[in-house]
Amino acid sequence: MQLIDGKKTSGEVKIEIAKEVKEIVDKGGKAPHLVAVLVGEDGASKTYVGSKVRSCEEVGFKSTLLKFDADISEEKLLETVEQLNNDDDVDGFIVQLPLPKHISELKVTEAIDPNKDVDGFHPTNLGKMVLDLPTFLPATPFGIIQLLERYGIETSGKHCVVVGRSHIVGTPMSILMARKTKIGNCTVTLTHSRTKDIKAETLRADILIVALGRAEFVTADMVKDGVVVIDVGITRVPDASKKRGYALKGDVKFDEVAEKASFITPVPGGVGPMTVVSLLKNTLLSAKRRQGIN
Ligand code: NAP
Repeated sequence: MQLIDGKKTSGEVKIEIAKEVKEIVDKGGKAPHLVAVLVGEDGASKTYVGSKVRSCEEVGFKSTLLKFDADISEEKLLETVEQLNNDDDVDGFIVQLPLPKHISELKVTEAIDPNKDVDGFHPTNLGKMVLDLPTFLPATPFGIIQLLERYGIETSGKHCVVVGRSHIVGTPMSILMARKTKIGNCTVTLTHSRTKDIKAETLRADILIVALGRAEFVTADMVKDGVVVIDVGITRVPDASKKRGYALKGDVKFDEVAEKASFITPVPGGVGPMTVVSLLKNTLLSAKRRQGIN
């Protein structure tokens, strides 16, 4: 079994990004600028946004964090999105999801200029992804593609089973794995809560990508020998032995599944850090486009 070390790989990608940023700035260009919008006090959202902002600093980006109370009106949030769309100094921005119930996530996502949508959630960018056109790929699936590529994992002709069909992970992942590209060319099965016999499906997987948000859902009896396992899930499970009172668990029962897997991602330290660097990659791409750099 080989561990797919997302922390290490993300560190390598950050060094590559930092080098490119330095080259741009040395030639008189502008460092990429990412803005993160955070609404409310959700603990996980604050952690994710904090890590995104810190990563910007590490690679030489400019970053701005805009914080709003949970009771901000939808109108005011949409106004902020419009201002960011029109701000020439901003190369890309994200509105951290989930949003409070009184705000439509779809309305906010659709209001973002697709050219600054570095999360890759706008319908225009998702449409371009489906058509194999250059675009911002959604950050988590993009991170997984990079892990598969950097670990030299053969995907062509393999059977890929994806568990979970969210708009930000499962569904785009299933599309990317079926594309006619180097990382792609899989036969894909997309499963969800209405799938009749999930174990029968996961047992057929050469590559298993799990994103359902239920701690340790996938057990050893659900996978075949030699499977490649990508665990996207992050669930906080109460744990009195930890200072913060909880442990982070993936969707896969790591210890027992690892014994059968050829490759496997840990949680934490697998997909999560790659999601952050994918956001940085998208922001760098946007900054280069906006400055006419190839
Ligand atoms: P989500 O929107 O919560 O959707 C969960 C999906 O899992 C749904 O499609 C649901 O099916 C399916 N599902 C639920 N129970 C199931 C079951 N028993 N059998 C089969 N399918 C089942 O998913 P998400 O936003 O993609 O998040 C999934 C997990 O990934 C969460 O733990 C989240 O925190 C984590 N995550 C991690 C990262 C990262 O960077 N590492 C990024 C994003 C998300 P239905 O559609 O039928 O309801």
